[in-house]
Amino acid sequence: MGIDVWLPKDALPAENVELEIPQAVADVAPEKPVAIAEAQQQQAEPASLDTDVSTLDWEALQTRVTECRLCDLHKSRTQTVFGVGNRNADWLIIGEAPGADEDRQGEPFVGRAGQLLNSMLQALDLAREDVYIANILKCRPPQNRDPKAEEVAHCMPWLQRQIQLIQPKVILALGRIAAQNLLQTNTSLGRLRGRLHYIDMTPTPVIVTYHPAYLLRSPLEKRKSWEDLLLAKKTLESGVS
Ligand code: URA
Repeated sequence: MGIDVWLPKDALPAENVELEIPQAVADVAPEKPVAIAEAQQQQAEPASLDTDVSTLDWEALQTRVTECRLCDLHKSRTQTVFGVGNRNADWLIIGEAPGADEDRQGEPFVGRAGQLLNSMLQALDLAREDVYIANILKCRPPQNRDPKAEEVAHCMPWLQRQIQLIQPKVILALGRIAAQNLLQTNTSLGRLRGRLHYIDMTPTPVIVTYHPAYLLRSPLEKRKSWEDLLLAKKTLESGVS
C-alpha cells in the first residue's frame, strides 16, 4: 500500500457515479453518540455562531483561534492549526483534528494521511492550493483520541465562520468524526456516503467519504472513496446547492 498510489482518473467515469454508489456500506467504526449531540445535552446553549464570531474577518478570526483557551486542549497543543489553502475555494475539505505532525507544523493534513489526501486531490486535477483544508478541531487531542463533546462545541463556531467566509461550492467531510459532527447525526459513515447533505447554516452540499488515515489501513476502500470524490465533483460541476 503506497500513499502515492491513487486510483486512476478513469477508474470510474463521472457519468456512472449515480449508478455505482452503493446504497448502504458497512461503517468502519462502531456507532457511538456524536460529540456535538452530547455537548448540546450538557450545555444550556448549543454551539452556535454568536454575533461576535460571525462578524470576524480572516485576520481577526485567525487571531482569535490562535489565542483560544476555551477548552483544555490549549494546554497540550504546540500550536493551533487554523486551516490552509485558497480562501475563495470551491472545495472545502474537513477532517477531524490535527495529529502530531500537524500540531508541530501548524498546518492540517501534512503527515501520511495528508500525503494520501494530496494524491486524492491530484486525481481530481486539484492541487492542495486550489482547495481549503480545515478540521473540526483546531488543536490536537492528546494521543489522537476522539474529540470530546465540549471541545467540538467550543471549536465549531470557528469552522462555521470559515465556511461563511469561504462560501465553498462543495464540502467534503473526511471520516466519521467530521461527518457526524458537521451534520449533527449519529448515522454511520457508510449510510452517510453516496448522497448530498446540508448543514443548517449553509446551502453548500456536503459529501461524506472515508478518512485518508482509514484508507491507508484499508486500501480496498479506496474505490468507494473515489466514487465519493466523483460525486462531489459532479455535484460541483452541476451547480447543485
Ligand atoms: N487527520 C485529520 O483529520 N486532520 C489532520 O489535519 C491530520 C490528520
